[in-house]
Amino acid sequence: MDGELILVVEDQPLNRKLVRDVLQAKGYRTIEAETGEDGVRMAHEQLPALILMDIQLPGISGIEALQRLREDPVTRALPVIAVTASAMQQNQREILAAGFDGYLPKPIDIASFLEVVRKKLDEGVRDEAN
Ligand code: MN
Repeated sequence: MDGELILVVEDQPLNRKLVRDVLQAKGYRTIEAETGEDGVRMAHEQLPALILMDIQLPGISGIEALQRLREDPVTRALPVIAVTASAMQQNQREILAAGFDGYLPKPIDIASFLEVVRKKLDEGVRDEAN
């Protein structure tokens, strides 16, 4: 049985590898983008079940990438979780206000990371009421 497809948008290779290894060890399939622009394009083309979005990226930020995903009817309902350093100025409240479906701090805690991923996948596509 193939696991759900998860798109990881992250510019740091070591962070990308950690997230990939953790997800693949649980049987999820992963695709990766190093920039927000590539992430938006890949999301549109491959419709992952979940997107994990870094905030600090070269080119457009994760917040801008989220806005582009929400503007595209094809990707609008895809769940997107922000994955970002908790010490950054964008705190959890600001990130959720930007429209993300969840927030995970870096460095990731593997157990809680996987728990949030599973929960969000089980919830499925977003309620588009708001
Ligand atoms: Mn980054």
